[in-house]
Amino acid sequence: MTSYKLGTAPAVTRGVSADDVPTSGVYVHVPYCRRRCPYCDFSIEIRRADEGFAAAVGAELAARAGELSWPAGSLSFGGGTPSALPPPALAELIEQVRAVGLAPGAEISLEANPEDVDAEVAQAWRAAGVTRVSLGVQSFDDEVLAYLGRAHRAAQARAAVAAVRAAGIGLVGVDLIVGVPGESAGRLAKDVDELAALGVGHVSAYLLTLEPHTPLVRLIARGARRPIDEETQADAYQAMQALLVERGFAQYEVSSFSRAGHESRHNRLYWAHRPYLGLGPGAHSMRVLEGGAVLRRHTTASLSDWLAAPGAAAHDDETLAPQHALREAVAFGLRDLARGVDLDALAAQRHADPSELLPALERARARGDVVDVLDDGGRRRRLSAQGARFADRVARDVLAARGERE
Ligand code: SF4
Repeated sequence: MTSYKLGTAPAVTRGVSADDVPTSGVYVHVPYCRRRCPYCDFSIEIRRADEGFAAAVGAELAARAGELSWPAGSLSFGGGTPSALPPPALAELIEQVRAVGLAPGAEISLEANPEDVDAEVAQAWRAAGVTRVSLGVQSFDDEVLAYLGRAHRAAQARAAVAAVRAAGIGLVGVDLIVGVPGESAGRLAKDVDELAALGVGHVSAYLLTLEPHTPLVRLIARGARRPIDEETQADAYQAMQALLVERGFAQYEVSSFSRAGHESRHNRLYWAHRPYLGLGPGAHSMRVLEGGAVLRRHTTASLSDWLAAPGAAAHDDETLAPQHALREAVAFGLRDLARGVDLDALAAQRHADPSELLPALERARARGDVVDVLDDGGRRRRLSAQGARFADRVARDVLAARGERE
């Protein structure tokens, strides 16, 4: 196993620290989709996966492995549509990362669209080492799926969950979209009942948002889709939160709900502001430099440019000074509703001054947006249930805290 050391990552305990969060992770961006969903503004390629995609990721990994501390505690495939990759290509990708260094028991997660999943595919993923699948179910209601312009219907979503579970992949999550016009409390309850009955252990719930220049904007403008009502949406999200909690899911992040032991380790790595290597076109990477500064890299989103030279593709780098890096780490860390963020520990890791952030955190506490994590002697802070609904305003305030002292 290759061992690289860079920056000031927490002590490596086989790639996962004592708090069960990976000390470093790898993200692979798979940019392909079969079609564009009308609400989506991601940078994607509407075509079949290039045959050379896995080899190109391998070339990028070989060129950039020195940017991360290994072994990695998580490997995550996102997109686009990772399930659009043929299973042998996915297995090749996993082997390439494993050859550099995946911790024993590392989380290997894959985003998948229900229409791509059958028993054979799910078994191939399991054989390749996939431990977690997040299915883009969005809803178990065919009318909602039609509004969203999704390629699948509810029956395929149910079959996909069953296929993944039958293959022995223990961690199965679904993405839901909340706030679709015409949605009733009864419809949301039906979604939650369905996913609970199917044995789903993790839910990422997002509000439908109208992104500029998407086909959905044009469809609404010409009356082909009902308009979105933001006030009803906020109520719908609160109703969904309550329903999930009633069915035994804990909200452990602003958009994430989980049964015990089903939390996404890779997402926790992001909220803990730990380093990750992003491979593929459009991927982001983050590493901590000596002295506590943070280097963020955004690889070109142009698939053709990236394929032409994956190991040396164009990228934008941004270096955050330690104080700025601390503000970001706190804004992210507050989102972890179970663990929260330890300001002093983070400040020590980033070689930064924690006092600058105290006024913003105290204002957030006074508004009821931030609370102490109860079982930790008051060292850690997190967003409250109310703060989780207004996470953006808390983050804005924390990020703007320059030169403020108590
Ligand atoms: S499958 Fe996902 S990434 Fe692809 S177009 Fe639909 S929403 Fe966007």
